[in-house]
Amino acid sequence: MPLVSMRQLLDEAAKGGYGVGAFNVNDMEQIQAIMGAATETKSPVIIQASRGARQFAQDRYLFHLILAASELHPEIPIAMHQDHGNSFETCKSAIALGYTSVMMDGSLKEDGKTPSTFEENVEVTRRVVEYAHPLGVTVEGEIGVLGGVEDGHGAGGSGLDHITDPDQAVEFAERTGVDALAIAIGTSHGAYKFNKKPDGSVLKMDVLIEIHKRLPHTHLVMHGSSSVPKDLQDIVNEYGGKLKETWGVPVEEIQLGIRNGVRKINVDTDNRLAITGAIRKVLWTQPEKFDPRDYMKPAREAMQKVVSQRMTQFGQAGHSADYAPLPITEIAKGYASGALDTRPSLAAK
Ligand SMILES: [Zn+2]
Repeated sequence: MPLVSMRQLLDEAAKGGYGVGAFNVNDMEQIQAIMGAATETKSPVIIQASRGARQFAQDRYLFHLILAASELHPEIPIAMHQDHGNSFETCKSAIALGYTSVMMDGSLKEDGKTPSTFEENVEVTRRVVEYAHPLGVTVEGEIGVLGGVEDGHGAGGSGLDHITDPDQAVEFAERTGVDALAIAIGTSHGAYKFNKKPDGSVLKMDVLIEIHKRLPHTHLVMHGSSSVPKDLQDIVNEYGGKLKETWGVPVEEIQLGIRNGVRKINVDTDNRLAITGAIRKVLWTQPEKFDPRDYMKPAREAMQKVVSQRMTQFGQAGHSADYAPLPITEIAKGYASGALDTRPSLAAK
């Protein structure tokens, strides 16, 4: 089947009360791992590529690999999403390629590092929405700033530096009309999120709950939401790795988020750890091996295992055949008629 609108995937997730993992990809094996997990668990999926991934793999390679996934798995709804677009032009180029969803991260300036002003964020995000919606393409915005850095993107620092203000979130949703909104509640990108098991003092679930109450029609997105499980860290370190002890976002906290309007959960670090651990194990225990398939196959299997687990934990498992994906042109009509408008003043009707 053709690639599906992320908006439709998230609307269906809201109806079913579950979340959908958005997994980052850079190469063929990662895409195969996700599709293996989606087939195994019968899950709809969001595959996403950062700017770094688009550069690493080159746009057309990456896009055609994902098209191959949709040809091979017509029974699985797949949305293709640009993760952390830094400018109108980045989002436009993703849409030109055929991505069905884009994130305009206007919380940072175009350099992907410096926090922008609220007005700058509203301006660039609204511009992307005005361009994307007539084409049926979904838009995710971000308000507040996440901590950490990943793929060269991020403000750095702790996740507590710029927690989303619920009043601003409501104003932002009203003025931009975004479909989905990433909020900052204390999470960070990368492996080093927390230096102890996170509790209410570092992970502001109350802010998330408040935002959902006030924006019930805007799908919330949790970034930096790898759980960084100890067993995956241990495998890396057991075979020569040097990871410092660290904690991610506990799955129970994500599940609490899902009960309170979180529909998209970004996961990257856990998959990176699974892949690296599997490769290290082969190279460390069987140093005579030199065929890349000898370590890429276990790496792909290790990632598939993590993705399957998350799909089950997020509740998307079993939902791949719940609905008929609409052509993106139909989604465009929904935006034109106002039927898909999520702005609080209109959606309250
Ligand atoms: Zn992110």
